[in-house]
Amino acid sequence: MSALYQNVVRSEIAFERGEGVRLFSTDGDEYFDFAGGIAVNVVGHADPHVVAKIKEQAEKLWHVGAIFTIPEAETLAQRLVDVSFADMVFFTNSGAEALEAAIKTTRRFFYDKGEPDRYEIITLEGAFHGRTLGTIAAGGNPSYLEGFGPKAEGFVQVERGNIEALKAAINPKSAAVLLEPIQGESGINVLDLEYLRQVRALCDEHGMLLVLDEVQCGYGRTGKMFAYEWAGIVPDVMALAKGIGGGFPLGACLATKEIGSVMVPGTHGSTYGGNPLACTVGNAVLDRVLEDGFLENVTEVGNHLTWQMQQLAQKYPDLIVEIRSKGLMAGFRVTPPAGEVVAALRDAKIITIGAGDNVVRLLPPLNVTKDEIDEAVRRMDAGFKSLAG
Ligand SMILES: *Cc1c(COP(=O)(O)O)cnc(C)c1O
Repeated sequence: MSALYQNVVRSEIAFERGEGVRLFSTDGDEYFDFAGGIAVNVVGHADPHVVAKIKEQAEKLWHVGAIFTIPEAETLAQRLVDVSFADMVFFTNSGAEALEAAIKTTRRFFYDKGEPDRYEIITLEGAFHGRTLGTIAAGGNPSYLEGFGPKAEGFVQVERGNIEALKAAINPKSAAVLLEPIQGESGINVLDLEYLRQVRALCDEHGMLLVLDEVQCGYGRTGKMFAYEWAGIVPDVMALAKGIGGGFPLGACLATKEIGSVMVPGTHGSTYGGNPLACTVGNAVLDRVLEDGFLENVTEVGNHLTWQMQQLAQKYPDLIVEIRSKGLMAGFRVTPPAGEVVAALRDAKIITIGAGDNVVRLLPPLNVTKDEIDEAVRRMDAGFKSLAG
């Protein structure tokens, strides 16, 4: 028996090597990876540039501790500032930690303003913000909260997309709205751009912060560097992870100067966060993401993927009931249990991943080519055909 916690249902398949969109199993089978370890592998597996940079850094220095100047972290932070709304960055090792930093920054901002009772954060139904005690309270999913003691205080949840419900929830304790512009775990729920603008306006009106969780939908996934750009708005605080490290554990909390500067010495910390090795990888991934044509490819190839998914939906109307997509963040809502579809597609040598709402997510590398999409679609066709009987 495995010595690992059995907290996830694991397939027997083990992989030993990856190359771009491809994964090779220990049995010698070749798969197309359209899950990317959940939207993580933005430049695919074993990207030569990222591999070269990590090898070079691995021979020099891995870790020194946050009390020293870390040039790799300074550079990455400045580059993130240059491509976003933000002025300041705090590095973490995961998405949940980036959200914890965002929540603490938000609360501390109002504390510093002399409003310590203003700590409540409004989140949306279907949200997913991580698995720490704070982020399961923020996400509000009852099955993630069950059995773990009292739910951390200070989070209220309202119906997704309903601006009146959000208005009604605002009270003197309200500090911020926290949301994913596109909810990933709940099934690729793309929030209406007008709704996002209304939320921004409401936050401004009430002196509240807009905190975005772009852990899954950010970093080029939708064809823009950050999903908030589609709405023409900016947040005050934002959590990133997943794509930022391309597979190396790295996350970040970004904030404006006014807000980020409340996190003075002693307020927060992380042993590993922003270490030289992690930030070297982060810089190498960002080199690729900022290359000419990289984001354009996401939109172009993403449109092609959506079109191909629509063809599959027409061919298998009894299996596929809806397509949801933005760039290369896509999903089929299916009639059989999503897990059965994921298994059938895996048998057809393409890896996908389930989500809420009985959705099967497709999250390929962002540098995937049109030809690779076509090959992936052939495999998906075979998988759906096997289910159609
Ligand atoms: C994955 C995810 C998280 C949590 O990230 P971890 O690295 O697993 O802690 C938070 N928010 C969103 C939107 C995510 O997709």
